[in-house]
Amino acid sequence: MSTDVERERWAELVDLVNSARAEYYQKDAPRLSDAEYDALYAELVELERRHPELAGGESPTQTVGGARSEMFEPVEHLQRMYSLDNAFDPTELDAWFERVRAGLGEFPPMLCELKIDGLAVDAVYRDGALVTLATRGDGRVGEDVTYNARFIPGVPQRLKGDDVPALLEVRGEIYFTVADFERINSEQLDIGLPAFANPRNTAAGSLRQRIDRREEDLAAARADARGGARAEGRITRLEAELARAVSRLANLRLTVHGVGAVEGALVSTQSGAYELMGRLGLPISDRARAHSTPDDVRAFIDHYGEHRHDVEHEIDGVVVKVDDLERQRALGETSRAPRWAIAYKYPPEVVRTRLLDIAVNVGRTGRVTPFAVMEPVKVAGSTVAMATLHNAHEVVRKGVLIGDVVFLRKAGDVIPEVLGPVLDERDGTERAFVMPTACPECGTGLRPEKEGDKDLRCPNSRSCPAQVRERVFHVASRAALDIEGLGAKAAVALLEGGVIEDEGDLFLLTPELLSSCEFFTREPARGEEGRQLTENARTMLANLEAAKDRPLWRVLVALSIRHVGGPTAMDLARAFGSMDAIAAASIDELAAVDGIGGTIAEAVHDWFAEDWHRDVVDKWRMGDVRMADEAADAADLPLAGATIVITGSLEGFTRDSAAAEVTDRGGKVASSVSKKTTLVVAGENAGSKLDKARDLGVPVVGLAGFVALLSGGVDAALSHVREGA
Ligand code: NAD
Repeated sequence: MSTDVERERWAELVDLVNSARAEYYQKDAPRLSDAEYDALYAELVELERRHPELAGGESPTQTVGGARSEMFEPVEHLQRMYSLDNAFDPTELDAWFERVRAGLGEFPPMLCELKIDGLAVDAVYRDGALVTLATRGDGRVGEDVTYNARFIPGVPQRLKGDDVPALLEVRGEIYFTVADFERINSEQLDIGLPAFANPRNTAAGSLRQRIDRREEDLAAARADARGGARAEGRITRLEAELARAVSRLANLRLTVHGVGAVEGALVSTQSGAYELMGRLGLPISDRARAHSTPDDVRAFIDHYGEHRHDVEHEIDGVVVKVDDLERQRALGETSRAPRWAIAYKYPPEVVRTRLLDIAVNVGRTGRVTPFAVMEPVKVAGSTVAMATLHNAHEVVRKGVLIGDVVFLRKAGDVIPEVLGPVLDERDGTERAFVMPTACPECGTGLRPEKEGDKDLRCPNSRSCPAQVRERVFHVASRAALDIEGLGAKAAVALLEGGVIEDEGDLFLLTPELLSSCEFFTREPARGEEGRQLTENARTMLANLEAAKDRPLWRVLVALSIRHVGGPTAMDLARAFGSMDAIAAASIDELAAVDGIGGTIAEAVHDWFAEDWHRDVVDKWRMGDVRMADEAADAADLPLAGATIVITGSLEGFTRDSAAAEVTDRGGKVASSVSKKTTLVVAGENAGSKLDKARDLGVPVVGLAGFVALLSGGVDAALSHVREGA
């Protein structure tokens, strides 16, 4: 029997799950992250497993989440819609395989599909015409959104073909692509509304609008004879709101993933149903695959776990279904979910955490950036405690206060982003962030570079300790001169120890100068006299020496000229050939270079007009840093004339260093595949560029081919072309 404490906890969990469901399904504004909801739900399931007497019909474990909102008319589904049971790890998946095997006596062919992160709908077609579109609701009765369907091109109004069934009830997912989701969320913030937590809630919020009421309100406002400025203002506002609502509907997509009631068509498998629906003009996924062994199913799941972000819409897992409909019927359903399907869920990418503070950071070009300091939280495989907030306007736009509980999103390798506050969690102790007016490092008054700029900058670029430190550190970065041994700590030691004043002195460093700084020396070993340079100090000196001979464009990148990153520096170096020629060029001459616009031309020109900047260049020249590219004919370089596209990650290289290796050898690096592409280098997790290469017949090589390319040119690489590419 359950104890009082357990009964108490059960009631508490039921309340928590029910209120989370109401916020998620009815208001499209969850207060919990999906992971937190799933954890509460799992605890409830486990408690009821141990004490079945607790699990009455009122438990949310017995119902399909998402009651109907009164805002819409009810629609009774012809056949019930179910939710899905989840597997969160391979063991839970194996347990489901076992249950299916036990139920059917063998492992049946399984259909593997992407689990689209959207909302389920039910569409009924009679004689080929759409008669109702409804949300899932409680699984029996959903919300009538048929009126809105006419604005969603992705939901066909009529089925096509000659063999249209008399009745077809289809189930599918309504969603936004990631690109549309990001654009819509950004518009949402611009008009002062809170960001949507995920594409699912955005899609649900967009579908579940009363467009008909908006139209009626607008018609009434227009018909109102009183007129005047206020009425005009109201009409303009209503028009804008209607236009926004309609344009959101227009961007919604549908992918069908199930059938309900059917009359006049015979299907015997889930995959057969998809083929039929595809022929009828319904949008089906081209990624569903039938697999007949557990290993193949696992491989499908692993594949999309790695390529989750190569899909144009968000997925939160993979759905595995017994393909044969007869066998589906044999396994049946519980009150909430079919026994013949399971949703394998990937780790969450949106989590909740507390925003402890908003601090500011001064970058190497003086930009002062607020960033979120959060309670460390695990998301998408790493622990995150900080995220940039870009500028003070962005902090206001996101509506976050210090002390807020926030949603934080980190997708794969993408940098973490604070999505917005959980407003219901506020208790009044939160406070607004105040952007400092003076530089936190040197006290100089902050200002925008020009009027209207959102970013504030510390104008003391010459001696603001933060900027000097960041510039010194930047010289050593891979994108610039790639100097091993000169990390953040070494940069601070050089500056604080007074060994260098700024980046100008770096290439004049000697072992003697370094010996004066404790950070770079160690106690003498037996037989040695006096303190000795550390291994790191020697590495740094050797690498500084090697860096002096890097091509001109990398020297330009190392100078921290605003807007001058790798590609621009390459354009400048190619066009002018020497530092002196660049320094002497007028704004017009600079802007005349292919790829360089007015803003960059001005930034480069202004940079060289500053005395202390030229001092840095002169000191580097004194230190023998390369100031001109040898006239060596670019055409003689081993990769001259070759255009390479690099995609995915290559072990031992960063994106920048791989590109630099190609350009250093005279090759061109392009970001997209075209007929002109010589070769595509595809590392781990390469995405859609691979498909494009295949379509265009461009050869594709992997890491080994890339290494061959660098050492032996295009021909050497071609001997590594991937089979089947
Ligand atoms: P679910 O989302 O885990 O799975 C069922 C749904 O998957 C189906 O209804 C369908 O819409 C969808 N689906 C997507 N692709 C599919 C495919 N190819 N085939 C079949 N179905 C597919 O279950 P649910 O009951 O809709 O929702 C539960 C989930 O919703 C939770 O696990 C959680 O992630 C989220 N939720 C979150 C909160 C919160 O407060 N954050 C509250 C309630 C629910």
